[in-house]
Amino acid sequence: MADVVGVEVERLWEMLPPMGDGMKCEPISLCGACYAESPCHRIEWQYKSVWKCVGVSHRHQLKLLAKCSQCEVQFKMPALWENGRCDRCRTTFGQLAAYQKSA
Ligand SMILES: [Zn+2]
Ligand SMILES: [Zn+2]
Repeated sequence: MADVVGVEVERLWEMLPPMGDGMKCEPISLCGACYAESPCHRIEWQYKSVWKCVGVSHRHQLKLLAKCSQCEVQFKMPALWENGRCDRCRTTFGQLAAYQKSA
């Protein structure tokens, strides 16, 4: 019985993200340039070790935004994003790409 439980625990760990590259829930980070191309949040943006755009193509090479460049408010959880805009000043995430610094 103990053996069976041990195997189950190992398999559970395998399903988790790689250790040593932990996730952070806050602040929510995003690349406005990526978002303009494909309006969805990328889970890679929340890795603690990721601080610049690491889209599939790696072509932006922009520092990720952790807050709105216009009004300085932090982004909401991606699940609450509506229309891809800042909740306070209504600036679209695509427009925020203009404020991203190159990495
Ligand atoms: Zn990008
Ligand atoms: Zn804003």
